[in-house]
Amino acid sequence: MINKKPYVLESVVKTTPDVFTFRFRSQDGEKVDFTPGMFAMLYWRNKDTGEEIGRSYSIASSPNADYFDFIITMIHGMLTSKLEDAKPGDVYYISAPYGQFKIEPNSGGKLLFLAGGTGIVPFISLMKYTESTDLKLDISMICSIRYPYEMLCRDTLDEMKERKELRLAVTVTRPQPGDDWTGQTGRIDADMIKKYVPDVSERVCYICGPMAFVNALKAALTSMGIDGKSIKAEMWGE
Ligand SMILES: Cc1cc2nc3c(=O)[nH]c(=O)nc-3n(C[C@H](O)[C@H](O)[C@H](O)COP(=O)(O)OP(=O)(O)OC[C@H]3O[C@@H](n4cnc5c(N)ncnc54)[C@H](O)[C@@H]3O)c2cc1C
Repeated sequence: MINKKPYVLESVVKTTPDVFTFRFRSQDGEKVDFTPGMFAMLYWRNKDTGEEIGRSYSIASSPNADYFDFIITMIHGMLTSKLEDAKPGDVYYISAPYGQFKIEPNSGGKLLFLAGGTGIVPFISLMKYTESTDLKLDISMICSIRYPYEMLCRDTLDEMKERKELRLAVTVTRPQPGDDWTGQTGRIDADMIKKYVPDVSERVCYICGPMAFVNALKAALTSMGIDGKSIKAEMWGE
């Protein structure tokens, strides 16, 4: 049984026009053990009626951290509408950890991460974890975003690149005239994976993003002869 406990919202940062990063700290200071890739349930509670709205969020912070970071797209739904008005000091409730999408930091080997939009979040948790350890990772990653301004967590990615643990390609699916994007465009497919990750068959592949993204990339990897056992996926949204 996983406990639901009160957490205080410590900070809210507007990361892109519609994505916010929320940091929550537990009131009792207790740290939760989890593996990067796992998610938490975040609950808003009406103080007067006790009514609750809870949703799942991948944990963006490191398992070493004594707080939870969540990176959330504001879609004006039931919980995200509450979060739009959230202020430091507000109390929310969190239970964690959940999920089978675990990126074992100590498993070694070569990794491929394919991220669609906020699907980057579980991978950031792993990268933040390695910042505070001696682990050396070999990650190839392709991030798919609609517009250049949607790129998240640049600092963490740049640091991983500097440490030569990450080779990153970013593709923009809806390039606009005047957005100054000179890089890769279009959706990730088998050809794009071959171009940026020629050693894909040696890697364990992790995919995270919307359902259509995950299904398309599972099919692409399978068409490239990648064994299903080497493909792990998490999806949310449409
Ligand atoms: C394991 C897991 C991990 C998740 N991690 C994250 C995360 O790290 N960050 C994050 O932002 N979300 C994440 N989600 C999604 C999150 O749980 C919520 O579904 C989301 O925040 C919407 O909640 P809501 O109550 O505001 O919307 P609701 O009131 O529940 O409304 C949801 C409805 O909005 C529509 N919708 C859903 N997604 C989108 C979208 N992206 N754009 C437009 N319309 C949409 C759909 O029609 C859906 O029926 C995760 C989900 C799962 C299952």
